[in-house]
Amino acid sequence: MHYHKISDKLLKEFKDLCKKEGIHYDTDEEYRRSAQNLVGLVDLLIEIDMKDRQLKNRLKDEPKGFSLEGKGRSCSLCHRSVYENDGWYDKWGFKCMNCQDAVNKKKIPGSICGDWNNEKSVTDSTLAWKGDLHVQTIRKLIRQGKLKARAIPNGPYILLRKDNPDLLNVIDKEKIKVAKKKQTTS
Ligand SMILES: [Zn+2]
Repeated sequence: MHYHKISDKLLKEFKDLCKKEGIHYDTDEEYRRSAQNLVGLVDLLIEIDMKDRQLKNRLKDEPKGFSLEGKGRSCSLCHRSVYENDGWYDKWGFKCMNCQDAVNKKKIPGSICGDWNNEKSVTDSTLAWKGDLHVQTIRKLIRQGKLKARAIPNGPYILLRKDNPDLLNVIDKEKIKVAKKKQTTS
């Protein structure tokens, strides 16, 4: 990554902007460092965006996607980081090979990939974490049919919101049950 030098003119503009925003530094050196950090961040964002575009562009020639080195990228379906192996990049984004296989075999709809904010779906472990329950408890609810989940073979369960309109209710009820159990055993 290359850094832009902060010119005196840019520094003055940055100082004016800080003043307007109510941000104050004591020395020019601090203003310059803050501006430098900001420029560095923008550079980084542009670099990420460019790499993203390059990947999307490749899809024009390889519409089914292509193998891509993991390098710690997160799978857009199970959200695990892929280090040692390659993953696959297609119109739904980057996935580990295990999840790619599940999407290819239509066990999981590709459209829920990249749902980082859990708007459409949630994995069993994320749901356990968010609901403050054990993942075994979530799996029990799945076995009991109280929650509907789709299994990624060799991977986590994925719960789709549309399959589970009553999701929060089920979790709340279970939490009350667990709390009551704790009371009686302690
Ligand atoms: Zn995955």
